[in-house]
Amino acid sequence: MKRKMMALTMAVLMAASLSACKGSSANDTTTATTTADTTAAEKTEDTTAAESSEVAESEANGADKVYKIATDTTFAPFEFENDKGEMVGIDLDLLKAIAEDQGFEYELVVAGFSAATTGLEAGEYDAVIAGMSITDARKEKYDFSEPYYDSGVGMAVNADSDIASYEDLNGKTVAAKIGTEGCTFAESIADQYGFTIMQFEDSSSMYQDVLAGNSVACFEDYPVLGYEISRGTAFKMPLEMEHGNSYGFAVLKGQNTELLEMFDAGLKNMKDSGKYDEILNTYISK
Ligand code: GLN
Repeated sequence: MKRKMMALTMAVLMAASLSACKGSSANDTTTATTTADTTAAEKTEDTTAAESSEVAESEANGADKVYKIATDTTFAPFEFENDKGEMVGIDLDLLKAIAEDQGFEYELVVAGFSAATTGLEAGEYDAVIAGMSITDARKEKYDFSEPYYDSGVGMAVNADSDIASYEDLNGKTVAAKIGTEGCTFAESIADQYGFTIMQFEDSSSMYQDVLAGNSVACFEDYPVLGYEISRGTAFKMPLEMEHGNSYGFAVLKGQNTELLEMFDAGLKNMKDSGKYDEILNTYISK
C-alpha cells in the first residue's frame, strides 16, 4: 500500500515537472497548487457599469448581454484585493471605465491566470483581462485588443540573498506561475543555467515559496515585482528586465468581436480623455 502511494506520488511529481508552462487543464497536476483559488474563483463582482439609459440604448442595439470577463487573483497593481476586500487595479479600473464609456455590462470572475485562459478556451468566459501578454503563440488562439501596457519579465530574490546572476541559480529551484510569460522565460534558460522550476497557480503562493526559502528566486512580470517591492515585500531584483510583451485584453479567436471592438474604442477614448493616465497614476507613482 505504502509503495503504491509512493509510486503514485512519484508519478504526480513527474507529471508536474514535465508539464511545461502551459495553462492548466482540468486534470493537470502541479507540485504546488493552492486551494485559495477555489474561493477566489467563485467570487464574482457584479458591475453595473451601464446606466439605465445606456442599458436601454444597448438593448435597442440588441446588445443586452452581460459579458463574463475573467481576471487573475493576485497581480498587483493590475488586479488585487485591497484592504476593504474589493478587487481593484489598473486592469479592473480600466475595464470599468471602458464599459461605462461603451455602455456594455459585464460580470467579473476572479479566476486566477491559468484558469482564466482555460475557461476562455472552454467558452466559460467571454474575455480575459489579467495583465496578459500579447505573444505570437497566444495570437494563434486569441484575438487581442490594442496593447495597453508595456511589460517584461524579471527575477526576484529575497532581499538578503546572494543570488546576483542566472549562473547563481545552478542546482537550485526557482518558482514561476503556471501559464505565464515568466514561466516560459524561466523554462527557456533552465537547462543552460541548471535550475529546476517549481510551478504555482498564483503569484502570492509563488512569493511565499521564495520568502520561505524553498525557491531561491521567482520569475514574474517586472512591473508586478517592482510593485511588490514598493509595497514592502522583502525582495530585490538583481538583474535588468528581460524583454517581454505588452498587455492586451483577450477574446477567443473570431469570437466576441463586438466586445473587442468596444474595448479598443473605449481604450482610445480613455487615452484621449486622460482617464487612462489618471488610472495608471492611482497605482504607479512616477
Ligand atoms: N503577463 C504574464 C503573461 O501573460 C503574466 C500574467 C499574469 O500572471 N496575470 O503570461
